[in-house]
Formats: sequence, C-alpha cells, structure tokens
Amino acid sequence: MQVFKFGGASVKNAENIKNAASIISKYKSSELLVVVSAINKTTDRLQEVVNNYTKGQGDPFLALDVVKQEHNHILCELFEDRQAPVFDDIANCFVEIEWILEEEALDSYDYLYDQIVSVGELLSSKILAAYCNQIGIPTKWEDARDYISTDNTYREAIVDWELTEAKIRRELPLILDEYVVVTQGFIGSTSENFTTTLGREGSDYSAAIFAACLNAEGITIWKDVPGVLNADPKWFEKTELIPELSYTDAIELTYYGATVIHPKTIKPLQNKKITLNVRSFLQPEQPGTQIRTTNQTLPVPSFIFKVNQVLINIQPRDFSFIVEDNLSHIFNLCHLHRIKINMMHNSAISFSVSIDDTGEHVDMLLEDLEKRYKVNYEKGLELITIRYYNQETIDRVLVNKKIIRELKDSYTCQMLVKELNE
Ligand code: ASP
Ligand code: MG
Repeated sequence: MQVFKFGGASVKNAENIKNAASIISKYKSSELLVVVSAINKTTDRLQEVVNNYTKGQGDPFLALDVVKQEHNHILCELFEDRQAPVFDDIANCFVEIEWILEEEALDSYDYLYDQIVSVGELLSSKILAAYCNQIGIPTKWEDARDYISTDNTYREAIVDWELTEAKIRRELPLILDEYVVVTQGFIGSTSENFTTTLGREGSDYSAAIFAACLNAEGITIWKDVPGVLNADPKWFEKTELIPELSYTDAIELTYYGATVIHPKTIKPLQNKKITLNVRSFLQPEQPGTQIRTTNQTLPVPSFIFKVNQVLINIQPRDFSFIVEDNLSHIFNLCHLHRIKINMMHNSAISFSVSIDDTGEHVDMLLEDLEKRYKVNYEKGLELITIRYYNQETIDRVLVNKKIIRELKDSYTCQMLVKELNE
C-alpha cells in the first residue's frame, strides 16, 4: 500500500483539488491512504481567530468569515449540486467553531488553539474526499483523531506509538481493501478525546505515522517543487534537484532547517525502511527525489538559510565560569518557552545560542534569563548551513557578510552571519 500526502498549496483552490484528485485516480488501483493539510493559509487564518478570541485583538467571527468564504467559494466551484451533503458537512465544522467562540475563553491558549485550528484539516479532507467520490473514486473519509493517539501537550502533542499502531492496524487495512482513504494531517487526540495538533507543518509527520504503522511500501509527499533541491529556490537562483538521498542526509538537512520535509517525518520511515518520494504535483510524471537506504552521499553541497535569527549571549553575573548547573537552567528555560536552539556555542565564561526570532516567546525568555545572568543579544542575523561544504561554497555564501559564530564538523559547516552595510 501507498501513503500520499498533499500539502496546503496542493489543495489551495478548486483547480488544485481537481489536480490532486486526478493524481489519486491514477494510483487508486493500489491500496492508498491520502493525508491532507489545511487549504493554503487556513491554519494561519484560524490562528488569527484564536488570537482574536483569546486576546481580544479583533473580532473572531469576522476572522472566521474569511475562512468560511474561501471554503464556500471552492465548494461552489467543485460541486454543481448545491444539495450535495458536503455543503452541510462544511457548514457544521464552522458551527462547531462558533460554539466555542460564543463561550468565554477560559481554557488555556494552547488547548483552544488545537480545538479551533484543527478544523482546517477537517475542512480540506472533507472537500477532497467528497470530490474524489464525485468523480467516481470510491473514497472514505476517516477522522485521524480516531487513529493518532497523543498526550495532552497541546500544539506539540507527542504520539503514543503503541496505541496509535494498534488502532491503525485494527481498522484501516479492511477499509483500504475497498476504498481510497482520505484523512487529515497535523491532528490527533488525547485519551479523553480532546483534539491535539502535532506542531506546525506536522502533516508530513502524520503521513509518516500512518505509513510506518501500515508498513506501507512507499510514501509520496506531493509538493510545488520538483523534489528535494540543494537549496531553497527562494534564496538561490540556481538550484539542483537531488534524485536520491539517504535517510541520514535527509534527517540532517531537515534538522538544520531545510523546510522541504518536516524533521520528524524521516526517522519512523527509516526504522521501517519505507521509501519516501518527494514529487511535484505540478509535474506528476516526474520522478522527483527518493529518500531511502543508500550509500550515495549528496551529489552536490546543500545550502540551508535561516533568516531572522537572534544570538543571545549569556554570562553569569559574577563572571564565574558557565557550569553544568547554569546550562541545565538555560536549557530548561528554553524548553519552558518552547524555544528551539539552532546553534549553540560555549566558552569558559559565556554561553550563546542562536534561535528564531519569534517575538513574544523570545522576549519572555530574555526576561527570565536576565533574572540570573548578564544577557546581551543581537537580532537580524542569518544562519547558513552547508552540508558537504568546501572553501568555495563557503566563499560563495559569504559575499557581503561577516561571520559572527562558526561551527564545523567533517560534513557540515554552520555560520551565523551578519549583513555588511557597504
Ligand atoms: N496545516 C498545518 C500547518 O499549516 C499543518 C501542515 O500544513 O503540515 O502548519
Ligand atoms: Mg503546510
């Protein structure tokens, strides 16, 4: 059996949904489970609904209307019959959100976020499943929350693999015998049936969970790029497609911030030796990239750019050494504020970390650090990682840039840099 994952861009409008369905129809003769993300910007828009609701920044109902209109527009383009049950199905999803919004926001932000934002995937999957059925693909919509069991770390829930595997194995193979299954990425549920989400861009991970538990032969992530490239075309004019990639290289690249695949996706597939294909939904006949067991190292150096970095430099107030006690305290604070460290560096008297400048969370971290340490920070930096680097590749990315921190091992070079003003 195969698992397909369609991301937000691949279902962003009626035309793209038709295209996704036509890709599905070409493979429908083999057993197929399809995982879909929320349509285009829906997750961000629903997050705005949550912010308006919990922080009183604006009218949550108005923000929700934008999402409603977009989905209705797509529905009207896909389904001529206005009595089709999918119209009611979608309307009901919105009613569920409105019920929440009518109550006072007493629960925690993270909990409310998951209850509201998860609806994005319910909407897209219902539309895709209904459309597949309309064009004659026998399709069954399944609720991922009936299968993916998690703890209650809302917004970054941790999967209970044992329970999830048992549920998936018990129910899904029989359904897959008869139908293409369409389900949601990104969402799961706690043992008490509260909805959780697996972290932003987590739909790839969901697809990997289903694939690993079903012992799939392969999984394909359909993207708007031709496959895994050696750099994001956003930053680099000339990029090269990497036709074949080892699991290890793929894990390293995503760990350092290559956004083509969610970092948690690859490990479960590697454990089960399931090939991961990254292909273009715009050119579905092209083979794209295959990630699998191979001795092949990357044919070309790969570049990863992360902008908007803050370098935080931390020193004990009394100029004593940074010791393990300080380090564990610092890591704890990062964990508490959900900060992911992209690069760290320590010397005898100071410890520094580079992190994404996500605003509020960073401010709170700085405030907490300042209670115990002398802290200074610099914003607006860029983190450049080169896998399989050499001096030429380093020189190439350093034009007009000054290195602030640098870390090298035999395969990977990481440089935190600052733009030089002429
Ligand atoms: N819709 C979610 C997000 O935008 C999950 C995903 O797209 O993978 O983060
Ligand atoms: Mg996405």
